[in-house]
Amino acid sequence: MKHLLKQYFGYDDFRPGQKKLIDSIMAGCDVLGIMPTGAGKSICYQIPALAMQGITIVVSPLISLMKDQVTALNQAGVHAAYINSSLTESQISMAFANAKKNTYKIIYIAPERLDTPQFYDFTATAEISLVAVDEAHCVSQWGQDFRPGYLNVAAFVARLEEKGRRPVLCAFTATATKEVKDDMVCMLGLREPDILVTGFDRENLYFAVERPKDKMKAALRYVTDRAGESGIIYCNTRNGVEDVCEMLVEHGVPAAKYHAGMSNQERMENQDDFLFDRKPVIVATNAFGMGIDKSNVRYVLHFNMPQSMENYYQEAGRAGRDGGAAQCLLLYAPKDTATNRFLLENKESKKEITEEERKEILERDLQRLKVMTFYSTTKECLRKYILNYFGETTHADCHNCGNCDADFEKHDVTELGRQIVNCVYEVRQRFGINMILGVLRGSKNAKIIRYGFDRLKTYGKLAEYAESTLRQVIDALLQEEILIQTADQYPVICLGKGYGKLKDEGFSLTIKTEVRKSEKSDDARGGAEKAGGKGALGKGALDDAGFALFEKLRQKRLALAKEERVPPYIVFSDKTLIDMCLKQPRTPEEMLEVSGVGASKLEKYGKAFLQVIKGT
Ligand code: ADP
Repeated sequence: MKHLLKQYFGYDDFRPGQKKLIDSIMAGCDVLGIMPTGAGKSICYQIPALAMQGITIVVSPLISLMKDQVTALNQAGVHAAYINSSLTESQISMAFANAKKNTYKIIYIAPERLDTPQFYDFTATAEISLVAVDEAHCVSQWGQDFRPGYLNVAAFVARLEEKGRRPVLCAFTATATKEVKDDMVCMLGLREPDILVTGFDRENLYFAVERPKDKMKAALRYVTDRAGESGIIYCNTRNGVEDVCEMLVEHGVPAAKYHAGMSNQERMENQDDFLFDRKPVIVATNAFGMGIDKSNVRYVLHFNMPQSMENYYQEAGRAGRDGGAAQCLLLYAPKDTATNRFLLENKESKKEITEEERKEILERDLQRLKVMTFYSTTKECLRKYILNYFGETTHADCHNCGNCDADFEKHDVTELGRQIVNCVYEVRQRFGINMILGVLRGSKNAKIIRYGFDRLKTYGKLAEYAESTLRQVIDALLQEEILIQTADQYPVICLGKGYGKLKDEGFSLTIKTEVRKSEKSDDARGGAEKAGGKGALGKGALDDAGFALFEKLRQKRLALAKEERVPPYIVFSDKTLIDMCLKQPRTPEEMLEVSGVGASKLEKYGKAFLQVIKGT
C-alpha cells in the first residue's frame, strides 16, 4: 500500500487514520470514516481501489468535486472517469461503453445515476470490488444536505449481493452527530463497519479574531500583505460581497466575487478564475465553497461573524487542505451579532412549519449564534474553544492561535461585574446592553432621564471606564451565565443561573486585555507563513533564496497548468513546491524524494521543475 501511495501520489507515509481504514477495507470489512476536511479521505478509498482486482465506484454529490478528483487522478496516472449530469447523453453512453471494457479503475458517479437502465446494464457484468460513498451524511434526513438519491446506494449493493458479488462498502464524511452516524450505517446498509473518528483538530490552521475599527482597511491590509496568495473572503450579505470586492479591485487586488444574486454563468466564470489562480482572491457569501477542493487556499478571512460555529469551522476549514500552513481570521464587530440576529429572525423556511416549530428553530439558531459570539470575544485559546465545542475535551492551550500568541494581562473585574449586575437588577431586568452601559457611565440620554434612571444608585458609578472595557466585562458575565441575554427582537439582559457565583468568596471574574502584539505575528511576511505550527510546512520555513525559488516554481506551475487547462494545484500543491525549495533536487531520483511527486508526475513535470531549480 505504501508503495502505491508513493508511486501514484508521491507521499511517503499515511496520515493517522488512513492506514487503519485502508487495512480494514483490504481485509474485506465495511468502514465508516469520520474525518475533518483536508484529513485525506480520498486516499482511503483510492489506494484500495488501486490494489483491488475490480472497479471502484465512488458515489459523490457534487459535479465540481467529481471533476476535480478525476482530473487529479488522471494526472497521477490513474484511469478514472465521472458520470453525471454535466455530460451529454452520448458522452454518458460512451463512458459506460468504456467502463464495460474495463478502461477505468475508478468511476465517480452521481447517486441518482445508480438507478438508471444504463447503470444496471453496466453492473450486470462488471466486476465491482469496492463502493465508496463520499459526503455520506447526505443520506441522512437529519442533516441539511439530505439527498434522496443516496438512498439508491443500499439497493445497488443489495442487487450485487443477490448475485453473490457484494463489494466492500465504505463511507466517508466530515460531519456527523450521533443521529447522522446511525443513519449512515442504517440507510447505506453498512455491514458491521469499522468506524473511525479522527480528531477535529486541523493543526496546520492558525485561528485568530480581530476587532478592527475599520474592517475595510483591515481587510485590504491583510490581503495586500499576502499578495499573490490564494484566499477566500466571506461576507454575510450580497451587498457586503459587492462592497468588499469593489474596494479590493479599486486597490489593484485581482479579486472575483460570488453570491446567489449573480447569474449562473457569471458565478461559474468567477469560480474558475479563482480555481485556476487567475484571480487568487474570491469574495463570497456562504453560497460559495461546497465542493471546492482547491488545496492551496492560504487564508480564509471572515469579514463578518458567521451564524454558527458549525458554519465557521466548515468555511474556515477550506484553508490549507494541502496540509500547509494557512490562516483563518475573523473580523468581529458587535454589530455582526445584531445583523445575524436579524437575518435569522427573517430567515425563510424551506417547508411549511407551524409557529411553534418556527420558534423552536429560532431558539436553536440564536443559541448557536451565542456560541459564535463567545468565540469572537473570548481571550482564551481559540482552538481549545472550537474543539471543546465539537465535543473533544482538551485542556491545553494550543500556542498556535491569535489568543495564545497575544500578550494578555489578566484583570480582576469582580467588583465591576457586581456593579453591572446591580444595575441590571435596578432596571428590573427589562433593558438591553446599551441602556445598562448608559446608566453605568452616567449618560444624559433622553430615555435615561425620562425613565428617571439618573436617580438610580448605579447611575454614573462606572463613568471612568471605557465602554469597550465594560462590554468585555458583560461578555465575561454572559459566559459565566451570571447574566443572560434574551432571544427577543430587542434583547434584554437578565440575571442568569450563575448569579450566585458572585457571592462565592473564592470566585473571581477576570478579563484579559492585550498588552502588545507578540513579535511572532509582526513577522515581515505578515505572520501568515510562520503560523501553522506543529509540522505544518509554510513558506516561513524558507530563507530569502528559497522564497525566490518558490516564486519561480509557482510561475512554472501556472504556465504548465495553463497549457493543460487544469487548476495549478492539480499540477503540484503549494506544500510540494515548498518541499522542493527545501530539498532542491538535482536529479529525477532526488525529485522523487519530494512529498507529492509520484512516478507519473515526475514523468510529466519533473524535467521542467528541475530546470527551474538548476536555474537553466
Ligand atoms: P478530504 O477529502 O478529507 O477533505 P482530501 O482527500 O481532499 O481530504 O485530501 C486533502 C489533501 O491532503 C490533498 O491535497 C491530498 O493529496 C493530501 N494528502 C492526503 N493524504 C496524504 C498523505 N498521506 N500525505 C500527504 N498528503 C496527503
